[in-house]
Amino acid sequence: MENTDKRRELQVSAIENGTVIDHIPAKSVFQVVKILGLEDSTEQILIGTNLESKKYGRKGIIKLANRFFEHDEINKIALAAPSATLIVIRDYQIVEKTKVDIPDQVVRFVRCVNPNCITNYEKIATKFIVIDKEEIRLECHYCEKVTDKTNMVFI
Ligand SMILES: [Zn+2]
Repeated sequence: MENTDKRRELQVSAIENGTVIDHIPAKSVFQVVKILGLEDSTEQILIGTNLESKKYGRKGIIKLANRFFEHDEINKIALAAPSATLIVIRDYQIVEKTKVDIPDQVVRFVRCVNPNCITNYEKIATKFIVIDKEEIRLECHYCEKVTDKTNMVFI
Protein backbone atom coordinates (compact mmCIF):
# COMPACT_ATOMS: atom_id res chain seq x y z
CA MET A 1 0.00 0.00 0.00
CA GLU A 2 2.67 2.48 1.05
CA ASN A 3 4.73 1.69 -1.99
CA THR A 4 1.83 2.37 -4.28
CA ASP A 5 1.23 5.71 -2.60
CA LYS A 6 4.87 6.63 -2.89
CA ARG A 7 4.95 5.72 -6.52
CA ARG A 8 1.85 7.77 -7.22
CA GLU A 9 3.41 10.72 -5.45
CA LEU A 10 6.45 10.53 -7.69
CA GLN A 11 4.27 10.60 -10.77
CA VAL A 12 2.49 13.76 -9.69
CA SER A 13 5.20 15.60 -7.77
CA ALA A 14 4.02 19.09 -7.08
CA ILE A 15 4.43 22.30 -8.98
CA GLU A 16 3.54 25.59 -7.35
CA ASN A 17 1.79 27.24 -10.30
CA GLY A 18 1.23 25.92 -13.75
CA THR A 19 -0.53 23.25 -15.75
CA VAL A 20 -0.37 19.49 -15.77
CA ILE A 21 -1.38 17.73 -18.97
CA ASP A 22 -2.39 14.27 -17.85
CA HIS A 23 -3.67 11.15 -19.66
CA ILE A 24 -1.73 11.81 -22.83
CA PRO A 25 -1.49 8.63 -24.93
CA ALA A 26 2.12 7.50 -24.41
CA LYS A 27 2.85 7.63 -28.14
CA SER A 28 1.75 11.27 -28.35
CA VAL A 29 3.79 12.77 -25.52
CA PHE A 30 6.63 14.07 -27.64
CA GLN A 31 4.26 15.31 -30.31
CA VAL A 32 2.54 17.41 -27.64
CA VAL A 33 5.96 18.69 -26.50
CA LYS A 34 6.69 19.69 -30.07
CA ILE A 35 3.40 21.34 -30.99
CA LEU A 36 3.45 23.43 -27.83
CA GLY A 37 7.03 24.50 -28.53
CA LEU A 38 8.18 23.30 -25.13
CA GLU A 39 11.74 22.66 -26.34
CA ASP A 40 12.31 26.40 -26.19
CA SER A 41 10.81 26.90 -22.75
CA THR A 42 13.02 28.15 -19.94
CA GLU A 43 10.51 27.12 -17.27
CA GLN A 44 10.62 23.89 -15.30
CA ILE A 45 9.04 21.04 -17.25
CA LEU A 46 8.62 17.46 -16.12
CA ILE A 47 7.83 14.88 -18.77
CA GLY A 48 6.81 11.34 -17.97
CA THR A 49 5.85 8.68 -20.45
CA ASN A 50 4.87 5.02 -20.45
CA LEU A 51 3.40 5.42 -16.98
CA GLU A 52 0.82 2.90 -15.97
CA SER A 53 -2.77 4.01 -16.12
CA LYS A 54 -5.66 1.74 -15.27
CA LYS A 55 -7.98 3.65 -17.51
CA TYR A 56 -5.81 4.35 -20.53
CA GLY A 57 -3.08 1.71 -20.63
CA ARG A 58 0.25 3.48 -20.99
CA LYS A 59 -0.01 7.17 -20.52
CA GLY A 60 2.16 10.23 -20.50
CA ILE A 61 2.09 13.32 -18.37
CA ILE A 62 3.65 16.76 -18.82
CA LYS A 63 3.96 19.21 -15.95
CA LEU A 64 4.68 22.79 -16.77
CA ALA A 65 5.58 25.42 -14.22
CA ASN A 66 4.12 28.87 -14.80
CA ARG A 67 2.38 27.95 -18.02
CA PHE A 68 -1.36 28.31 -18.62
CA PHE A 69 -2.97 27.42 -21.91
CA GLU A 70 -5.42 29.31 -24.02
CA HIS A 71 -7.97 28.36 -26.62
CA ASP A 72 -5.75 27.58 -29.62
CA GLU A 73 -3.20 25.68 -27.59
CA ILE A 74 -5.88 23.62 -25.90
CA ASN A 75 -7.28 22.74 -29.33
CA LYS A 76 -3.84 21.62 -30.44
CA ILE A 77 -3.50 19.43 -27.38
CA ALA A 78 -6.96 17.98 -28.06
CA LEU A 79 -6.08 17.00 -31.63
CA ALA A 80 -2.80 15.36 -30.63
CA ALA A 81 -4.09 13.81 -27.40
CA PRO A 82 -7.90 13.58 -27.32
CA SER A 83 -7.90 11.77 -23.97
CA ALA A 84 -5.85 14.47 -22.22
CA THR A 85 -6.91 16.21 -19.05
CA LEU A 86 -5.68 19.68 -18.16
CA ILE A 87 -5.09 20.37 -14.50
CA VAL A 88 -4.46 23.97 -13.50
CA ILE A 89 -2.42 24.41 -10.33
CA ARG A 90 -2.19 27.58 -8.31
CA ASP A 91 -0.34 27.73 -5.03
CA TYR A 92 0.05 23.91 -5.07
CA GLN A 93 -3.72 23.46 -5.26
CA ILE A 94 -5.75 22.07 -8.14
CA VAL A 95 -8.05 24.90 -9.15
CA GLU A 96 -9.37 23.45 -12.40
CA LYS A 97 -9.48 20.06 -14.03
CA THR A 98 -10.94 19.70 -17.51
CA LYS A 99 -10.92 17.12 -20.23
CA VAL A 100 -9.90 18.58 -23.55
CA ASP A 101 -12.58 18.90 -26.21
CA ILE A 102 -12.12 18.32 -29.91
CA PRO A 103 -13.22 21.58 -31.54
CA ASP A 104 -15.79 21.76 -34.39
CA GLN A 105 -13.41 23.80 -36.50
CA VAL A 106 -9.64 23.95 -36.71
CA VAL A 107 -8.18 27.20 -37.93
CA ARG A 108 -4.51 28.00 -38.68
CA PHE A 109 -2.37 25.41 -37.00
CA VAL A 110 -2.76 22.25 -39.11
CA ARG A 111 -1.42 21.94 -42.67
CA CYS A 112 -3.75 20.72 -45.43
CA VAL A 113 -2.66 17.32 -46.77
CA ASN A 114 -3.36 18.38 -50.36
CA PRO A 115 -0.17 19.87 -51.87
CA ASN A 116 -2.28 21.74 -54.44
CA CYS A 117 -4.50 23.34 -51.81
CA ILE A 118 -4.45 27.14 -51.97
CA THR A 119 -3.36 27.25 -48.31
CA ASN A 120 -0.13 25.51 -49.27
CA TYR A 121 0.99 28.03 -51.86
CA GLU A 122 -0.60 31.29 -50.78
CA LYS A 123 -0.50 33.02 -47.45
CA ILE A 124 -3.94 31.89 -46.38
CA ALA A 125 -4.63 30.39 -42.98
CA THR A 126 -5.83 26.81 -43.16
CA LYS A 127 -9.36 26.09 -42.04
CA PHE A 128 -10.98 22.71 -41.46
CA ILE A 129 -14.30 21.32 -40.38
CA VAL A 130 -13.87 18.43 -37.97
CA ILE A 131 -15.95 15.69 -39.61
CA ASP A 132 -14.97 12.87 -37.24
CA LYS A 133 -14.07 13.56 -33.64
CA GLU A 134 -13.37 9.94 -32.76
CA GLU A 135 -10.84 9.21 -35.48
CA ILE A 136 -9.88 12.88 -35.87
CA ARG A 137 -10.64 13.65 -39.49
CA LEU A 138 -10.48 17.22 -40.76
CA GLU A 139 -12.07 18.38 -44.00
CA CYS A 140 -10.41 21.35 -45.64
CA HIS A 141 -12.70 24.33 -46.06
CA TYR A 142 -10.95 25.26 -49.33
CA CYS A 143 -10.24 22.01 -51.18
CA GLU A 144 -12.43 19.54 -49.24
CA LYS A 145 -9.59 17.01 -48.93
CA VAL A 146 -9.48 15.16 -45.64
CA THR A 147 -6.49 15.38 -43.33
CA ASP A 148 -6.46 12.75 -40.59
CA LYS A 149 -4.27 11.88 -37.67
CA THR A 150 -1.94 9.71 -39.75
CA ASN A 151 -0.92 12.66 -41.91
CA MET A 152 -1.60 15.59 -39.64
CA VAL A 153 1.20 18.15 -39.56
CA PHE A 154 1.06 21.01 -37.10
CA ILE A 155 2.25 24.41 -38.31
ZN1 LIG B 1 -7.00 22.10 -48.52
